[in-house]
Amino acid sequence: MADFSDIIDQQQMREHMQHALVTDKVSHAYIISGENGSGKEFIARVFAKALQCENRKDEGEYRESCNECPSCVKALSGNHPDIITITHEKPASIGVDDIRQQLRDDVIIKPYESRYKIYIIPEGEKMTPAAQNALLKTLEEPPSYIVIIILTNNLNAFLPTIISRCIVLPMKPVRDDSIVEYLMKECQVVDYKAALCASFARGNVGKALELASNERFEKLKNETIDLVSRLKNLEISEMMDRIHTILEPLEGEEKSSKKGIDPAQYEDFMDILIFLFRDMLVYKATGDVSHLIFTDKVSYISSVTKDCTYEGIGSIIKDMETAKKRISSNVNIDLALELMLMGIKEHL
Ligand SMILES: [Zn+2]
Repeated sequence: MADFSDIIDQQQMREHMQHALVTDKVSHAYIISGENGSGKEFIARVFAKALQCENRKDEGEYRESCNECPSCVKALSGNHPDIITITHEKPASIGVDDIRQQLRDDVIIKPYESRYKIYIIPEGEKMTPAAQNALLKTLEEPPSYIVIIILTNNLNAFLPTIISRCIVLPMKPVRDDSIVEYLMKECQVVDYKAALCASFARGNVGKALELASNERFEKLKNETIDLVSRLKNLEISEMMDRIHTILEPLEGEEKSSKKGIDPAQYEDFMDILIFLFRDMLVYKATGDVSHLIFTDKVSYISSVTKDCTYEGIGSIIKDMETAKKRISSNVNIDLALELMLMGIKEHL
């Protein structure tokens, strides 16, 4: 179901929406901002369904929608005439015509059957300045029954005049233990894998779900750790061949500008390395496997840490940070990775 009790963490956002529902003080415009995959649209739809529900109930600590009235039934099936999602034909932008036709010319029509008319604008950062100005006209004189919920991954894309007329609700990173609990309970992910995915998702539930459900990450993890375990015996050219195979763009995805290397793969690759060396430090310091992230690689981690020093691992981690900085400032990615791998080879 999609109710307030199903939202993971986001206490502040829930409290704000609950306050609006209980006191009937609903703003005409909200911006929910957060990374892709953080669950913005889910929360917007929970709020919209509750706003329109004809028979809200107090369930536990929340005022929830009933999920049974005609309004809830339509909201749940995605066919509520007074919950409107703004769409756009051009993938990269929401133009002035999209906002005029679907929102500005539509707000003057009263709700068909509910108390509010709710407009949800996904990917709000794609609104062109002209589209934002068209939206602004409505925000300046909103009909009493409208609620606009803009979703975005980038608040900086908005005109200050838009932001000043909206209540901005930022998504917060979700706690790792909340993500682990969710993956185990709701998605039947086993405990060690749930912990691994939560560590990598950095508070983003959608990313954790994606990591838990796809084979790509598992494969990338195994290939990356395998590469590290063989570095000692590889020549530079062999290393780079392996890197290109590991990080090649995924099938069916657009080739990136960084030739031959997929940016999403690259980021996860670097994270895997950082967590691997972190595991080595933890194991070296404590000899305890219960705090490791890669619990399926214990035998490798325990054998490799016998031969390397704290200074060595520390210097590898520094090399990795340097490589990350170089790559983000557009130094040739191959060169940066090559220098980093040489550093790992030397100190491991
Ligand atoms: Zn209802």
